[in-house]
Amino acid sequence: MDQYPEGAFNRAALERFDAVLVGGGIMGATLAVLLHELDPELRLLLLERLDQPALESSAAVNNAGTGHAANCELNYTPQQADGTVATAKALRINASFERSLEFWASLSEQGRLDPSGFLHQVPHISWVQGAADVAFLRQRQQQLSALPAFAGMEWSEDPAQLAQWMPLVMQGRSTDQPMAATRIGRGTDVDFGHLTRAYLEPLERSGALEVRRGCEVKDLERLPDGAGWLVQLQGPAGSSELICPFVFLGAGGGALPLLQRSGIPEGRVYGGFPVSGQWLVCRDQALAEHHFAKVYGKAKVGAPPMSVPHLDTRWIDGQRSLLFGPYAGFSSKFLKQGSLLDLPLSVRLTNLLPMLQVGLNNLSLVQYLINQLRQSPQERLDALREFVPQADAADWELSVAGQRVQIIKATASGGQLQLGTEVVAAADGSLAALLGASPGASTAVTIMLEVLQRCFGERLASESWQQRLRQLLPSWGRDPIAEPATLEAMRERSDALLGLQA
Ligand SMILES: Cc1cc2nc3c(=O)[nH]c(=O)nc-3n(C[C@H](O)[C@H](O)[C@H](O)COP(=O)(O)OP(=O)(O)OC[C@H]3O[C@@H](n4cnc5c(N)ncnc54)[C@H](O)[C@@H]3O)c2cc1C
Repeated sequence: MDQYPEGAFNRAALERFDAVLVGGGIMGATLAVLLHELDPELRLLLLERLDQPALESSAAVNNAGTGHAANCELNYTPQQADGTVATAKALRINASFERSLEFWASLSEQGRLDPSGFLHQVPHISWVQGAADVAFLRQRQQQLSALPAFAGMEWSEDPAQLAQWMPLVMQGRSTDQPMAATRIGRGTDVDFGHLTRAYLEPLERSGALEVRRGCEVKDLERLPDGAGWLVQLQGPAGSSELICPFVFLGAGGGALPLLQRSGIPEGRVYGGFPVSGQWLVCRDQALAEHHFAKVYGKAKVGAPPMSVPHLDTRWIDGQRSLLFGPYAGFSSKFLKQGSLLDLPLSVRLTNLLPMLQVGLNNLSLVQYLINQLRQSPQERLDALREFVPQADAADWELSVAGQRVQIIKATASGGQLQLGTEVVAAADGSLAALLGASPGASTAVTIMLEVLQRCFGERLASESWQQRLRQLLPSWGRDPIAEPATLEAMRERSDALLGLQA
């Protein structure tokens, strides 16, 4: 990877790095830490178009900060035709989050990451009303609590117990119709913006990573003979170019246009569908202190999973707060600070048909988003009151969330809308892009390990990288889903990490 054929083109004077990470969000920052841990000699450059890293989706105010472990998100356990729920996705997400906790525990044990700034333990609750949803939740609880990963899941239909778990949800609520909740005490809230900065600052201070702010990647050109990429930038000092054998497009919603610019064949089948969001944030500190949980409901019939309503205890820059949402919406921007032309400019001959097919096959989603966009303040308040019956509009303020760009993929059976995340990598491993947004930041460590596997496969297999990985992630190479002892060992360490906040 370090060899450049000097004679092949006249670029000898250009700057060179071993890895260029485009975008200063949680993904690029996680990859920077991993690469540095595995090879401290690597010359790493991170390019961020805004004035600072972590101002887009990874900013705490732009996402829900849920440490997604599938404790409470009902869309991860869909009901099947026979009435049981599917548990495979929930187990996978849970194991991925355990991996994130393990990573943070290692860095924290070495004194290199302070969890008190970004990680808080907070119960994760699923709450439903109506006989059919109560039956679904009971089924889910019975299946999940039989698995080691979710053994701590409690169940209650008792209004007094529910009032203890979530007082604001129960105050002033009629208990005429059946309702139930499950609760996992070992849930988390994560300030991913703080975490991003906490990853980047020490690397930058020590000189291991150069971070260029206000520096936008405009284009990428593949160099001949496997020599990597020519990256074209626009920064405060004007435009410039640099050369690099590996580029990671961790540009959030901006990753798709850059992937398209790279021209790699693997990227041709993708399009994007942006979904915007809003929250109601509680301004009354006393009220915020009166609720201590993330309470997830069930999406209404026809509503997409990203619109599942939830009432969340949050810590943003160390300050405890309360948030309700999201209210979904539509904007053609791919980034919160992007351009309205983002969506139209992403349309290509190769993705036009899949995009149209997705539009036609998901008319109910489009209609849902349009309705959400048209919501009046009173309708938003009504939605909040379904969760907090005594909510007073004066206590809540509307705040704009981050943009998500959902993946549209051309498949043999037509265009498909995918709600997860996907790593798209060039066959030679010289470039990788991360598309999609869910479960997102919580699983960043697992996703970036996939990037390493696909782009640094040989080095990753080397004894020195394997040894370093085992130091960083003692469960590396083991399967916490199939091996309860592995999960237990991971949790022993992460419990200590979470205990720091007790
Ligand atoms: C409303 C909402 C709620 C969410 N809730 C949760 C949650 O509860 N839990 C969870 O785990 N995840 C959640 N997510 C997902 C999570 O926020 C994202 O998966 C994660 O932040 C993505 O990180 P990233 O680094 O890929 O992107 P970002 O944080 O968006 O960072 C990308 C960066 O790239 C920069 N950039 C873009 N284009 C260029 C360019 N051309 N040149 C240079 N820089 C560029 C941007 O300015 C930005 O700083 C949520 C997301 C949204 C939108």
